[in-house]
Amino acid sequence: MIEKQSLTIAETQAMLLHVAQTMVDNEPMLTEADRAIGDGDHGIGMARGFSAVKEKLTGQTFSTLSDLFKATGMALMSSMGGASGAIFGTWFRGGAKAISQKDQLDHETFGVFLQNGLNSIVLRGGAKEGDKTMIDALAPASQVANTNASASLTDLFQAVVNAAETGMEKTKTMVATTGRAKTLGERSLGHPDPGAISTYLIFKSMSEYLATDH
Ligand code: ADP
Ligand code: MG
Repeated sequence: MIEKQSLTIAETQAMLLHVAQTMVDNEPMLTEADRAIGDGDHGIGMARGFSAVKEKLTGQTFSTLSDLFKATGMALMSSMGGASGAIFGTWFRGGAKAISQKDQLDHETFGVFLQNGLNSIVLRGGAKEGDKTMIDALAPASQVANTNASASLTDLFQAVVNAAETGMEKTKTMVATTGRAKTLGERSLGHPDPGAISTYLIFKSMSEYLATDH
């Protein structure tokens, strides 16, 4: 396998289509996770959002990476509703804004995309690390992407997956203070945050795409 250092816009688009399919396929699992600590709609929301991403990206040509990620964020935001529509849409739109003019997804660009996506989510939703949200998976992932300088894109994505998975696992030990899960209080202990699971799955499917020969 050739270790990639960057993805073209078309490859990044194919990667996002793979992510979209993964999220649609995981609807039952995400619904189950939200049933344990929320209102049970997270799987339905993500499946609806990423079906819209599939529709928006299929057969389209994007002239910049920023346009591609922006279209992804817009599709999520306009189709999902609920807290997570705004949150996951903001991730992709906020990240897209910071990478205008880029035509390759390389290590640095991915780091900037994650960091600015995260900042936008924090600005919009007001949650912070430790509040038992998707931020607890995204923040460590962004940190790895912005510090792990020498890795190939393949190695970097694997490191990002590991960081997001560890962060997601850690949400089991947290008590929710934001969103619907907060009404459960201590009863949310022992269950992972559904949005953190989604974040981990997004990275995992990106990494799978990269590890496969095309
Ligand atoms: P809703 O809360 O409207 O039912 P979902 O069930 O689809 O929406 O999504 C819930 C997920 O959204 C949570 O698991 C959490 O990760 C994420 N979330 C909610 N509020 C915030 C916030 N302010 N910041 C970051 N993530 C959030
Ligand atoms: Mg919910």
